[in-house]
This record gives sequence, structure tokens and C-alpha cells, in this order.
Amino acid sequence: MKRLFLLILVSLFSINSHSQLQKAKKFAKTITAEDLKEYLYVYASDEFEGRNTGDAGQKKAVEYLRNFYIENEIEPGDPDKDYFQKMKLNLRRGNEGEVDTENVIAIIKGTEIPEEYVILTAHLDHVGYGRTGSRAGRNVNKIHNGADDDGSGTVAVLEIAQAFKEASKKGKGPKRSIIFLHVTGEEKGLLGSAYYADNPIYPLEDTVTNLNLDMIGRTDPTREGKNREYIYIIGSDHDSQDLHNLSEKTNSETVNIDLDYRFNAKDDPQRFYYRSDHYNFAKNGIPIIFYFSGTHPDYHMPSDTPDKIEYDLLEVRSRLVFYTAWNIANREERIVLDPKPEVKTFEVDEDKLDGYAGNYGAEGIPLKIGVFIRDKNLFIEVMNQSVQLDPLSEDVFGSEAMGLKLTFDTANGTMEFKQGPYQIKLNKE
Ligand SMILES: [Zn+2]
Repeated sequence: MKRLFLLILVSLFSINSHSQLQKAKKFAKTITAEDLKEYLYVYASDEFEGRNTGDAGQKKAVEYLRNFYIENEIEPGDPDKDYFQKMKLNLRRGNEGEVDTENVIAIIKGTEIPEEYVILTAHLDHVGYGRTGSRAGRNVNKIHNGADDDGSGTVAVLEIAQAFKEASKKGKGPKRSIIFLHVTGEEKGLLGSAYYADNPIYPLEDTVTNLNLDMIGRTDPTREGKNREYIYIIGSDHDSQDLHNLSEKTNSETVNIDLDYRFNAKDDPQRFYYRSDHYNFAKNGIPIIFYFSGTHPDYHMPSDTPDKIEYDLLEVRSRLVFYTAWNIANREERIVLDPKPEVKTFEVDEDKLDGYAGNYGAEGIPLKIGVFIRDKNLFIEVMNQSVQLDPLSEDVFGSEAMGLKLTFDTANGTMEFKQGPYQIKLNKE
């Protein structure tokens, strides 16, 4: 009897989730290689002059995006209703000084839970004429079209927005709100997404997930010979196993491409997890997925042009993101965050603590690290910056940030820094 009930339940659920996706399939089909190609040949054309933050080409890009949303009758997402979140950015990297620039934001409001948000991001800028950020050397002075970086993610977000709008028109709008956020200043250090995270238009605590698309239109040459239908997935399981499971299940029930986790680890030496806009959301406790197809010889070169994009792959990857956003937005429950690991506290022997204070260094390394105690807590200090260390066990303290792991073993008097395969060990002087 029990088993029978269970069987009925299971089949009911599968019919339910199946029909949910069945509805999505019709709209996913509106995301096509032809449309993506048409948009990208404009967006990554010479007319946009490589979309350098604050320059004329970047202004053309934001006008293009705004017009797209107006034509498709997708609402502005900013309070002034002009689709722009304006800001001033100080571009120190290239000595460009302060520039006026903007994020572009549009929204499709949720039908049942409009106060919860799924944010899709892609960066709208690139490196212009390559004065900074080009791999072609200094003084290249050539337009860097940035078709893959991040023209590919940009046009994917447009097609996904249009698909959701089509669904809305047919009365199948998403239950939660979906925000389409095109961020500026990525190439200058993730500045546009940092600005949004510091000045959120929608509360970050109600932002359930960020899906970030940055470079999704090519094939990583180091993967050649493997299944060409793939995407690198980064971050899906960092803060929410629930999101990770949803992402996997959605893929297997829809486009079924190869989800490659090669760069997923936080301490991967390539550090892709820290290198695009999702990081500014992850930092604020929002679960993220970063979609990325890898680098290639045209990366940050004038040769990153729209003719090299594999539009059939861009189509299938865009559809995957659409389905994933669809499931996150339409599911009954909000994406669940993993419980935070409990911070253990240890009785710290004050007399012992004083013994840890001093300077730590290693031969051949100019860096000196000071250790001091304040209010029974252990701190390290480098160049007037101090960080408090957490007790990990009786004699071991540590801290972790940006993939860099510090372990201070007081019993042995050693301090170790580790990042991916690199490590240095310091001793008390
Ligand atoms: Zn990029």
C-alpha cells in the first residue's frame, strides 16, 4: 500500500515538473542562433568601437540595449524608468580618471512572488582600442570587438529576456521577478557589478540567485576532441547544493550538454571564480552560477570578432540558462542556501597567546608578517592592514579569502600561505 502511494506520488511529481518544463520548451525555441548572430554582428561591430567604459562606443552599446528592451516592451528596472543605473567610476588602471557610465537594467515582474528576484548578468563593456587590458601589447590602437567577451553573454541575455516576455504574453510569466542586468566597467575591475551590489535597486537579501554569462560563444582549444556541446559551470555548489542540483537536473531534462566543472574549485590556479561579475553577488551571500566556455587565442585581442562565434553552441547554452532561470523562478520554494559551517570557539590560553606575537618571515621573501594580540584575539598585520584569525583547533589558527588560505600553526611556530599549487612557509624570527 505504502509503495503504491509512493509510486503515485513520484509519478505525479514528475508529470508536474515535466509539464512545467514542457511549457518552457515552447519559449526556449524562440532563442535561436539566427537571432543571436544578428544581434552580435551589430553589438560587436566596429561602430561600437570596442565599448570602452565611458567612451562613445560604450554609450552606443547602452543605447542599443535600451532600445532592445523598449522594442520588446520589457519594463525598465531602475527607479527613473530610463533603464540606466548611472554612476561615476574612477578608472585608475589606465589613468583614464573619472568617467560617466551606466549599467542597463530591465525587469519582468513575477506573477506570484514578485518580491523575490533572479538576476541575469552579462557585462556590456570591453577594452575599446586596447589602451588598457589588451593582450596585443601597448599602443595597439585597434578596435577590440569583444564578440565573445562579452558580446556573447550580452546577446544571450537579450534573447532570454525576449523568451520570458513571450511567455508573459501567453500568461506564463515567471512566478518570481527576473532582472536583466548589463553591467559596465567589468574590464576595469568588475566595477559596474560592484556598484550595483553597493547600491542595489532590489534588496540583495531577496535576490535568490545570480546567473552570470561571460564568454559563452566559443570552444576552448584545450577541449578539442571532446563533446563540443559543453559549458564550464563555476560556483553552482559553492553556497547552495540545492542550486547545484537544480542546475544539473534542468540540464539533463532539457539540452543535456556536458557540464564541465574543471574550473569550479575556489582555489583553481586560473581563479575564474573571482574574475567576473557574479563574484560581487557571491560576496554578498547570493548563490551564483557562472557560465563560461573558456579562453582562446583571441581573448582580449582585436581578433575576438563575431565571425568566430559558434552560434549553434551559443544557442544551446543560452537555452540552458533560460531553462535554469525558468526553474529557479517558477519553483515553489526559493533556492536554499547551505547551512553556514559552525564557527567553533576554543578556550584560548592568554599566556600562550602572548608567546605567538612577533614577526614572521622566510629567507628570500621580502614580506614580513606581524602577529599581535588584541582582546584575546589573534591578528596578523601586513603593511598596516590587519586581519583577525579564526581558531581552527587548539593550536591552529587560520583565515581564507580570495582563494588564499592561511594556516598559523602555533605549536610549530609556522605560518603557511596556500593558493592552488603555490605555497610559502614563514617562521618566527
Ligand atoms: Zn568578460
